[in-house]
Amino acid sequence: MNKQEMLCLLAAQVAGCQKCKDLAETRIQTVFGRGEPETKVVLLGEAPGRDEDKEGLAFVGRAGQLLNNILSACELEHVYILNILKCRPPNNRVPTPEESANCRPFLDLQLKVIRPKYIVCLGATAAQKLLDTQETIGRLRGKWFEIEKPIKAKVLATYHPAFLLRNPAAKEDVWNDLQLLLEELNAT
Ligand code: SF4
Repeated sequence: MNKQEMLCLLAAQVAGCQKCKDLAETRIQTVFGRGEPETKVVLLGEAPGRDEDKEGLAFVGRAGQLLNNILSACELEHVYILNILKCRPPNNRVPTPEESANCRPFLDLQLKVIRPKYIVCLGATAAQKLLDTQETIGRLRGKWFEIEKPIKAKVLATYHPAFLLRNPAAKEDVWNDLQLLLEELNAT
């Protein structure tokens, strides 16, 4: 079974998941992730928003369009994009610790199938959950971390594209953060 087939099986399990009662009742559908499974780079966000919930795809709203533009500018199109949570929290609230814990096995399995060398966390929630820290995104961004579980990978954190829509001046920081990733990719 290849990576795409394994991810399809996992996506079917996610689609039937009812672990978080509130989210399962209010979601239109689960949002598993999208992109190229044979990639070195995974981008990790927080949770689906309204547009993602409607379309069933990760990062397709205004923030997703901005992310696509940034990735194109960096020639980083061949990535896989997913979220900590696979269901939209009502009114886009921050996921609760219980919801994040409920969904974590799915994230871990996705990462074990894709096995990226690099994970870029978009925003505080993704970075704090993956790195198991309460540190702010302002302090976490712009440097490399390493994780051993669920896979061995280098982790970079930067601002979420939704934050960039509200704070366009921070685009330069994201650009600089992604240069660290491009340097790594060019060196390997
Ligand atoms: S967020 Fe994850 S764990 Fe919770 S119901 Fe959705 S798929 Fe299941």
